[in-house]
Amino acid sequence: MDGVNSPSFFNMKKIFIIVVLVIFGELFSNVNVHFKNTKINSKIVTKKFDKIDYFNIYELNKVFHAHIMEEFLDQRININLYNHQFIILMNSSLLLANDKIYNFKYPMKFTDGKYYLPTEFFKELNYLLDSKIFAYKNKKIKAKFPYDNSIKTIVIDPGHGGKDPGALGYRRTREKDIALILAKKVKKIMKKELPDVTILLTRSTDKFVSLQSRTKFANSKHADLFVSIHCNASKSRKATGTEVYFLSTAKTTEARAVESLENSVVFKYEGGKKAQKNYDNLAFILMDMAQNEQLEESSQLAMILQKSISKKCRNHSRGVKQAGFYVLKGAYMPAVLIETGFISNPKEEKKLNNPQYQDKMAASIVSGIKNFKYLYDGFFK
Ligand SMILES: [Zn+2]
Repeated sequence: MDGVNSPSFFNMKKIFIIVVLVIFGELFSNVNVHFKNTKINSKIVTKKFDKIDYFNIYELNKVFHAHIMEEFLDQRININLYNHQFIILMNSSLLLANDKIYNFKYPMKFTDGKYYLPTEFFKELNYLLDSKIFAYKNKKIKAKFPYDNSIKTIVIDPGHGGKDPGALGYRRTREKDIALILAKKVKKIMKKELPDVTILLTRSTDKFVSLQSRTKFANSKHADLFVSIHCNASKSRKATGTEVYFLSTAKTTEARAVESLENSVVFKYEGGKKAQKNYDNLAFILMDMAQNEQLEESSQLAMILQKSISKKCRNHSRGVKQAGFYVLKGAYMPAVLIETGFISNPKEEKKLNNPQYQDKMAASIVSGIKNFKYLYDGFFK
């Protein structure tokens, strides 16, 4: 009898194929994704932990362009998926969404520096998202084609200009001049390092631009980030260092002093009390509320920038602060204000006038923005 045709061999082959299929099935039990009204399919790669299907949280970014923020200080992960905010407490199975707490049974896993969520999470999304946007059943997702909301346009705002010189240095250096030089350097480096990103300046010459039209410009260009560059001044000649601000109503006395200094240009150059009132009126309060959604991102950007600047420029870090700058009000995107240094301090004024130091400062701002972009866009580093 021919051994190849023996029934026992066929059985062996069958069993072998079944075993292989089962193993492969276990290894590649991915969640398939189909985007409605398109021919586009994708998949969420899964991995088993204790026989439970999990997926790397960044799969949500790759497939759905979700924004993912790892907030180590608060021990939580912020996921923005289809414009819905989901907060997951690290090392737990608790999910915060729509002001309610949900439990998806299996805890989030952390291995090799990566966070994994159980595929059970998709079942919760069935309840939390409109079924027209997202539906999950039997390892299959039918979803709306996602909008790519990675950072594509950045507005750099050199403070002051024209009739408004900004703060004056010990040797009469004008804040407006340093701010413009730094902003131009930032743009030049950024063009090289982030060639796919559009970089716009609110002013590229020594001209006066009202605070309101700076954010208006950023909004009209659909900018994804707004970075305002300034220099600080203090009555004390010893005051030194960099501070990065994001917009908030909560503030310290010191932050309030810097805020009133930067905001005073409205009184001085934009038409006194009347103009000031305009900035404080209801429309602005409403815009403030719109910006509250960007608060988390703005504070992250501020933190990353502060870190990058103090590391590269080796200067004193005065930390991340919150204040109510008019120039940040009304920005519909993450927005920060950098006080690069004190021109009232003779030593720091000299540094800020030094082209090499300016290059360093500009490079450190770019590196901070880049780090934030990678984190925000969720690209694997
Ligand atoms: Zn300023």
